[in-house]
Amino acid sequence: MLVVMHEHFPRRWFKYILILILLAAAARLLVYFIRSIVAPSKDKLLRQYRDAYEKFLCPVCEYPIRRGPMKFLYWNRRTLKKLRLPAQSAEEDTSGDPYICPSCSADLFSECPSCHAVRPTLLPFCDHCGAASDFATS
Ligand SMILES: [Zn+2]
Ligand SMILES: [Zn+2]
Repeated sequence: MLVVMHEHFPRRWFKYILILILLAAAARLLVYFIRSIVAPSKDKLLRQYRDAYEKFLCPVCEYPIRRGPMKFLYWNRRTLKKLRLPAQSAEEDTSGDPYICPSCSADLFSECPSCHAVRPTLLPFCDHCGAASDFATS
């Protein structure tokens, strides 16, 4: 197509058309990237949430989820492995309480509507009764 265009259009026009096509392609790419950043796909989001919960970090702002035996500790992705949990008694254990990120106010652990145990809010299923959340069904 480009060769045919090159033969039929004067050289000056051809240059402009080529630039226009390149601009259109660049704009499309840009829109695609912006879209994937603004509204990431559900799979990608879930993977990000899962990874964060696994490392006891807030999936929204990466602030450590300091609940249960890790209440008085501080860590990030790099230092998590070196973390040593302090010994503690059973009544100090707050891992069954609801938890909201103190840094960004994301609801991270809340009561399950079907079994009333505390479950990770941003993951699709309850870890006590397996009930699906809005996230899994939407
Ligand atoms: Zn947060
Ligand atoms: Zn449940």
